Amino acid sequence: MVKINISIDGPSSSGKSSIAASLAGLLSYKYVNTGSMYRAVTYFCLRENMFENEFCYNKLKIILSNMKLNYSYNNEIKSSILTINGKDISKHLNTIDVTDNVSFISKIKDVRLKLIEIQRNYAKDKGVVMEGRDIGTVVLPNADVKFFIQTDIDTRVKRRLIQLKSNNINVDISDLKKRIVKRDKIDSERELSPLRCPKGAFLISNNTSNFNSVLNEVYDIAKSFL
Ligand code: C5P
Repeated sequence: MVKINISIDGPSSSGKSSIAASLAGLLSYKYVNTGSMYRAVTYFCLRENMFENEFCYNKLKIILSNMKLNYSYNNEIKSSILTINGKDISKHLNTIDVTDNVSFISKIKDVRLKLIEIQRNYAKDKGVVMEGRDIGTVVLPNADVKFFIQTDIDTRVKRRLIQLKSNNINVDISDLKKRIVKRDKIDSERELSPLRCPKGAFLISNNTSNFNSVLNEVYDIAKSFL
């Protein structure tokens, strides 16, 4: 059967990862979570103490040129696996430190160029569901089907809170809301690859607690392109 590429974009905690991973599972496609790649670079910079003094872009360039980043998705544990230079760093990607600094790192041109090349490579043989902020606009502008996930801010905050609690991370709800709004603002207003709804994308509302109804909606649309 013919294989297609599917892009799914949307703001932080809009639920796009769950939709994208489940859709990929239903279609037996590869799932690629591009946010985890920006998080991986951010974690690496934190480990190198890059945020402690004035940020050194030249040092970042050297780090990037030596960095071998590998992405895979483990369907059994429903988790993205990221390795940098052969070392699994997956468990470090969702910390508050990484989340608070990732939008700074993802604004940087050298970072985007490196990661976009890796992302396009995953999609070259088709059969990919890729999610992020700029997939339908920049990474895969020729994706066969594009989705944009819309979820209201309070629903996003509640979902993120539940996710953090399940990882034993306790945060104040109004503080969490401020952080999500701030990250969206940086991601939408940056010069390179700002978060946008791609032209021709299907708008999917994800405010419902009925996950399967949203998944079925997306699956039916994707199937109509096969
Ligand atoms: O999707 P997630 O919240 O894990 O993404 C983390 C961050 O990575 C985003 O806030 C954004 O700054 C960056 N990102 C990006 N482009 C993508 C995916 C994520 O800039 N395609």
